[in-house]
Amino acid sequence: MKAYHDVHIHNYLSSCSNDSGATVERYIEGARQLGLKLMGFANHTWDESIPFPAPSGFYSRQSMAFQMQIKAQIPQDVPGIKVLVGAETEYCGMYDVLGMGKEAAEQLDFLLISHTHVHMRGFVMPANPDFAVARRALAERLSTAEGITPEYAALLASKAPEDSLEPFMPAERFDFVGFTADFMVKSLRSLLENETLNSYADRLPVSVAHPFQPVNFGKLRHAMLERISSNTFGELFETVAARGIGLEINPHTGNDDDFRMFSIAKECGCKFTLGSDMHTRAEAPDIFKTEVLTARLGLTEYDLMDFVRV
Ligand SMILES: [Zn+2]
Ligand SMILES: [Zn+2]
Repeated sequence: MKAYHDVHIHNYLSSCSNDSGATVERYIEGARQLGLKLMGFANHTWDESIPFPAPSGFYSRQSMAFQMQIKAQIPQDVPGIKVLVGAETEYCGMYDVLGMGKEAAEQLDFLLISHTHVHMRGFVMPANPDFAVARRALAERLSTAEGITPEYAALLASKAPEDSLEPFMPAERFDFVGFTADFMVKSLRSLLENETLNSYADRLPVSVAHPFQPVNFGKLRHAMLERISSNTFGELFETVAARGIGLEINPHTGNDDDFRMFSIAKECGCKFTLGSDMHTRAEAPDIFKTEVLTARLGLTEYDLMDFVRV
């Protein structure tokens, strides 16, 4: 299926965009050149009327008031392409808190919800307990150095990046892959029951951003998806379909794991959206990478959510 829309676009208003030229106008021009007929901005947004369940540096600035300034940036008349304003918000599965309330949602054309930003440890998903053990071991080692107090050693250890902790990890490892697989299943299930979402999901198009694609998981993703049975996917996706919620297909979904998962979703009657998740203008053509999976799944425009059909 040819991609004619992209509804997962971050411009410079998202903190993780490092392209200061990622303006609305340039994106619109780029999308038009690519032949897209519909585009949707979905900057990272936390509705400030929802208290944070835990401190979040990432979302402190990215409020509705901040992100909705994009509306004034979109030209009144954009010939040849439809431009929507949505948001990508957070579902903090470990607290069952959704970062978008009903009143704020009413200002949007659509909403993407992520349940897989698992790199936000302690905000979205609990941290791997092995890292706490490793940090204690590192702090102990550091405190043996002259002039370093135990407090300072603990501070240094707390800031050490996870991939530098390998020598201090415990011999017996926590099953973090299995834990993450379980967490994702549970978090999607509890999202579908979430009261905040239920208060507006029948009125606003909602799609799950990058389902079961844990951020920063790299090659472990395959092992993680293998832990989730087809029955479990089926049970989840039947509910997703019944609730009229969509699932996003993005440029990184092309392998056999994705094929298994999305085939089940299709069988369950789920509808889909396409999104590049681009943060810079250079990534705009990536939306066409979704055609690999949509062709393999045999999707047609009838498998798309209504709001992205053009
Ligand atoms: Zn995301
Ligand atoms: Zn995104």
